[in-house]
Amino acid sequence: MTELFQTTAQQEYQRATTQFKNSKDANAALKKSYARYDNLIAVAVDESPTKPECKAGCAFCCHYKVEARAHEVLLAKDYIRTHFSAGQKAQLVERLTANAAIIRTLTPEQHLLTNIRCALLDNNQCSIYPARPFRCRNFHSTDAQACEASFNHPDDMAIATGMIEGVAILADAHTQGFEAAAAQTGRDNRIYDFTTALLEALADDQPLKRYQRGKKAFQQGIEVVAE
Ligand code: SF4
Repeated sequence: MTELFQTTAQQEYQRATTQFKNSKDANAALKKSYARYDNLIAVAVDESPTKPECKAGCAFCCHYKVEARAHEVLLAKDYIRTHFSAGQKAQLVERLTANAAIIRTLTPEQHLLTNIRCALLDNNQCSIYPARPFRCRNFHSTDAQACEASFNHPDDMAIATGMIEGVAILADAHTQGFEAAAAQTGRDNRIYDFTTALLEALADDQPLKRYQRGKKAFQQGIEVVAE
C-alpha cells in the first residue's frame, strides 16, 4: 500500500468519522464525502499529463454491473425523491424492475460479463449524477475506443480501458476511508447489487427504517458476498 493511499484514506476516515459523530444523518455525511472526492479527483486529473477520455453522452461503462453500499442506495433514493416527478419515478421503477428480472437469472460472474443498460441512464447521461455511487465515480478511462470494444465484447475481460494510476489510487483510498468510517457507526455497511437494492428502496421506507435501527437494510436487494 503506498503512502499516498494511506494518507488519503486516513484523512477521509477522520473527516467522515467527525461528521458521523456530529450527526447521525448518513446522507449528509455521504454528500460531503462525495464533494471532497470530486475536488480531490478534479485536482488529480488536472495535474495528470494523461487525461481521461470520459465525456457527457459516452455511457458504455453504464452497462456494467454496479454495486453500492447500503447508505449509497439510500442517498440515491433520497435524490430521486427530491428530483424526479411521479411520472419519471414510475418509468424508472419500470426499468429497474425489468433489469432486476434479468439480474436474478444471472450468477454474479454472468452478471459481470453481461451488458445491462443502467435504469438510471437518461439520454445517455446519469439521471442521479450528483448522487451516483462511488463505484460509478471511481470509473474513468483513458481510451474510449477500448470502452466501446469492451461494450461490444462484454465477456472479454482482457480489454483494458486504461485508468490513470494516481487518480485510481486516490479514488480507491478516499472510498475506503469513508467506508471504514461508515462501518464504525454500526449501521448496515453491506454491499448490494445497485439495481435490486434501489428497486426495494423505492418501494417503501422499510429499508431506511431498518438501516436506522442498525439492521440489514435490504431483504430483496441482492447482497454482494465477498469471496
Ligand atoms: S448510476 Fe449513473 S453513473 Fe452509475 S451506471 Fe447508472 S447511469 Fe451510469
